[in-house]
Amino acid sequence: MTERLIVIGGDAAGMAAASQARRRRKVDGLEIVAFERGHFTSYSACGIPYWVGGQVPERDDLIARDPATFRDKHQIDVRLRHEVTAIDLDRREVVARDLTSGGEVRERFDLLMYATGATPTHPDWARTADTQGVFGVQTLDDGAALIDWLDGTARRSPSSDRLRCRQAVVVGGGYIGVEMAEALLHHGLSVTLVDRGEQPMSTMDPDMGVLVRDALVGLGVDVRTGCAVTGLSAKDGQVTGVLTDAGEIPADVVVLGLGVRPNTALAAEAGLPLGLSGGVRVDQRMRVPDVERVWAAGDCVESLHRVTGQSVHIPLGTHANKQGRVAGINIGGGYATFPGVLGTAITKVCDLEVARTGLLEREATAAGFEFVTTRVESTSRAGYYPGAAPMTVKLIAERRSGRLLGAQIVGRSEAAKRIDALAVALWNRMTVDEMTGLDLGYAPPYAPVWDPVLIAARKAMEAVEATG
Ligand SMILES: Cc1cc2nc3c(=O)[nH]c(=O)nc-3n(C[C@H](O)[C@H](O)[C@H](O)COP(=O)(O)OP(=O)(O)OC[C@H]3O[C@@H](n4cnc5c(N)ncnc54)[C@H](O)[C@@H]3O)c2cc1C
Repeated sequence: MTERLIVIGGDAAGMAAASQARRRRKVDGLEIVAFERGHFTSYSACGIPYWVGGQVPERDDLIARDPATFRDKHQIDVRLRHEVTAIDLDRREVVARDLTSGGEVRERFDLLMYATGATPTHPDWARTADTQGVFGVQTLDDGAALIDWLDGTARRSPSSDRLRCRQAVVVGGGYIGVEMAEALLHHGLSVTLVDRGEQPMSTMDPDMGVLVRDALVGLGVDVRTGCAVTGLSAKDGQVTGVLTDAGEIPADVVVLGLGVRPNTALAAEAGLPLGLSGGVRVDQRMRVPDVERVWAAGDCVESLHRVTGQSVHIPLGTHANKQGRVAGINIGGGYATFPGVLGTAITKVCDLEVARTGLLEREATAAGFEFVTTRVESTSRAGYYPGAAPMTVKLIAERRSGRLLGAQIVGRSEAAKRIDALAVALWNRMTVDEMTGLDLGYAPPYAPVWDPVLIAARKAMEAVEATG
């Protein structure tokens, strides 16, 4: 008998699941239909800042596989511009609206994959649909609209001089905010970055975030922290400024990077269980518990944090792809589990690389750990070798046991991917003492004889010993 898999959401998690399921079950055993409300499948939202910034020339460079490829090579029926509006678990069918024709279709399913991603946080002041020049960067359509606006081609107001934009305000200093600040600098704009927090990059401890701030300021970005946005000003329907509790900042383009929350409205209506983090609850095989043959993955679910053991919502493409793959293997009749997350993340602001894994200080405190912290300054290569660049490594280790709890790195070059060694140590519950003996590679063009990671581990071990 041919079964039917319906996938809701045609990007990383949904299409990874669909592809894996297809690899294991041929078309006469499993029919696969994927609904995607947008214009694209399998696109890299992660690449949007680099497309806007011009490093990636074409939008299509960000698309891994289009619907024709899915149809012809994988026999997966992708329906673009179809938004699923309801899931009926009793009748085992979904209702989808065709956003092009306005029509409605009902499709039955035996298996369901929920992969709707995340919804950007847009406060009330940003929901002014009539104000042009305010952009999110969640989808390729968002990126295209922003690029058109920056180039002046989308400015239609009678008072518009169709000149290129000059002043940009980025609201939110997380990794998307800082990536977009860089992208706007590449467009030749003067850029202001506004964040409510003490430092930009609240995904780092403030003493590391300040290094990102210094780099942004060095690039000419006007960084305003501790500053809350209260509204927008506009003229002739076009944004002219951002209103804050510390006054107005002029802007002819505003980019929002205020974080996301799991997109679970449909799931909640259908009665799928949500966790405390707001994401759909799943077990290790990405099955929705107590709901027959329903899976979920990606930015819409919560994940197990391997250090705290708690459920967290950490929306990253790296998790979405892995979780989608696990779900697809299981849907296809195989066996796979998703082992949890550490929250390892890297980014850059021009030549400054920023990375973290595991817990920040505030997260370690909230999880009940007592810990020591160490921060070391080192270099990417042997000090005498050309191109050696400064690097700051911070470690957080549990008091007494010395177990690594988290790590952060900020440096000028060859810094960020060093976080991977630390992520592996964290994954394997290593102590900083054990880490001092790690056999990491050394040659002058690649590292000092004591790699910055090892120096940090040594210092952390001393700090742990001092706690008695
Ligand atoms: C600017 C930017 C930069 C990023 N950079 C990084 C990075 O460097 N590294 C990293 O790990 N992550 C990064 N991310 C995060 C990463 O893109 C996401 O974690 C990843 O895309 C999540 O995949 P997903 O499939 O769960 O959700 P999504 O990619 O959001 O896909 C969900 C899809 O579901 C569709 N959908 C939603 N509801 C419905 C419905 N009712 N009916 C039909 N379709 C629906 C949506 O249109 C969407 O296409 C970045 C994100 C952004 C926005």
